[in-house]
Amino acid sequence: MVVGGLTNEVDTIVVGSGPGGYVAAIRAAQLGQKVVIVEKQYIGGVCLNVGCIPSKALIHIGHEYAKTKHPQPFGLTVSDSQLDFTKAQDWKNNEVVSKLTTGIKTLLKKNKVTIIEGEAHFVAKDTLFVTPKDGLGEGYRFKNAILAVGSRPIELKAFQFNDDILDSTGLLNLSAIPKELAVIGGGYVGMELAMAYANLGSHVTVLEGQDSILNGFEKDLIKPVLEEAKKLNMTILTNAKASRYEKDDKGLHLFYQVGDKEEELVADKIAVLVGRRPNTDQMSIELSGIDLDEKGLIPVNEQMQTNQEHIYAIGDITAGPALAHKASYEAKVAAEAISGVEGVAADYLVIPTVAYTQPEIATVGLTKAQAEEKGISPKVATFRFASNGRALSMDEPEGFVRLISNKETNQLIGAQLVGPGVSELIGEVTLAIENLLTAEDITLTIHNHPSLSETIMDASEILLGHGIHQ
Ligand SMILES: Cc1cc2nc3c(=O)[nH]c(=O)nc-3n(C[C@H](O)[C@H](O)[C@H](O)COP(=O)(O)OP(=O)(O)OC[C@H]3O[C@@H](n4cnc5c(N)ncnc54)[C@H](O)[C@@H]3O)c2cc1C
Repeated sequence: MVVGGLTNEVDTIVVGSGPGGYVAAIRAAQLGQKVVIVEKQYIGGVCLNVGCIPSKALIHIGHEYAKTKHPQPFGLTVSDSQLDFTKAQDWKNNEVVSKLTTGIKTLLKKNKVTIIEGEAHFVAKDTLFVTPKDGLGEGYRFKNAILAVGSRPIELKAFQFNDDILDSTGLLNLSAIPKELAVIGGGYVGMELAMAYANLGSHVTVLEGQDSILNGFEKDLIKPVLEEAKKLNMTILTNAKASRYEKDDKGLHLFYQVGDKEEELVADKIAVLVGRRPNTDQMSIELSGIDLDEKGLIPVNEQMQTNQEHIYAIGDITAGPALAHKASYEAKVAAEAISGVEGVAADYLVIPTVAYTQPEIATVGLTKAQAEEKGISPKVATFRFASNGRALSMDEPEGFVRLISNKETNQLIGAQLVGPGVSELIGEVTLAIENLLTAEDITLTIHNHPSLSETIMDASEILLGHGIHQ
């Protein structure tokens, strides 16, 4: 039962205001619903406050700083460049993050979404109770709910978070650049932040338990990143399992296992970036009647509906890649389904995945192996940035664009890119795959010269057997 406050009647309640929640709230409001959104910590969720956006800001600062630290091949040397890290953090927080989160609040208000600050938990299948930071809470009996409560960092037993042992939020918000930084976990979040701090001047050691960093990406995409890591003087240890640490006046002694040998390194800060867990264990979800799987994720159908048909779940609390754009896409599906839009169904064929490493990696659709597994005969074309005028003029010739098409139809079905600007280039291929375009459609499209995007046209020409530049 609801204790201590009123119970309000609402049509649609959205819990969580990350890229899942705020997008769901706005789309549902656009479709004529009266919407209430509940947020316990920060409008914009992980992505805007402590994820995608601040990490990209820090990566950018690292790139700009590093350029001044190394003589450039075209004769530029900068002497004695300084980075005021307090100012850098202020810029990230006030000029980037705050501007965007304020923008989200304005958008919610413009769409007449009611914002409630507080933590929601279920008290019945149709009622959430919201506890504000101070004051009495209130109940909300709802017709429909969209859960978008996201995820939080996984903590390792031997490395409990504190001022020395950091999660991604702690690592993003350091007040000084550590001399020696150890990063446990070589996934995309680990490698992005490890490389950012290497550019900022830290000596960084990455410990990865598996046999490769950036697992999930094909080996040839990872190679240029490893080469760059070497140039940045980073230490990458694979098959290395961090087991414990001790602190003394020399610093943090991190012990790790390689096979049956125990090794040790000393760091000023240790970041634990080993993954995230869904926040479905913090809202008395058992009282909602919703099923959870063994990982705490919520099974949903293609309208994002849970086994309780008036409750929808989206974003990091559902299966699939934990990515902001996946959350926002699911948000629109759920909001439209609730609003009675006919024929809405999630289709995951083209979710681009990007690691903002150095160089960047971007993939979408099928790999050659995945195409073969599906019984499709793939055709593969690779075009190197070393043959692209724009890449050379930017002094970034490393990497390649690989396109995969269906041999019989020439339809594009996948792409794997590594190199300059690939986080932007992947958009063109994503559009092509989503719209069932063929290699001819790309080659018949005039691409501006010189541009990195010409690599997509060049690779498409190779797919058709008449490449001009390679
Ligand atoms: C360092 C880092 C970098 C990343 N970089 C990228 C990237 O470059 N690209 C990308 O696509 N993804 C990136 N991600 C992942 C991305 O941030 C997530 O996939 C995305 O934020 C998930 O969105 P969501 O809406 O599901 O949840 P979240 O963004 O996690 O938002 C959930 C919100 O719900 C609130 N909440 C939770 N429980 C309750 C409750 N009971 N009551 C009220 N409110 C509640 C939380 O406070 C939070 O604000 C990154 C993540 C991290 C940590």
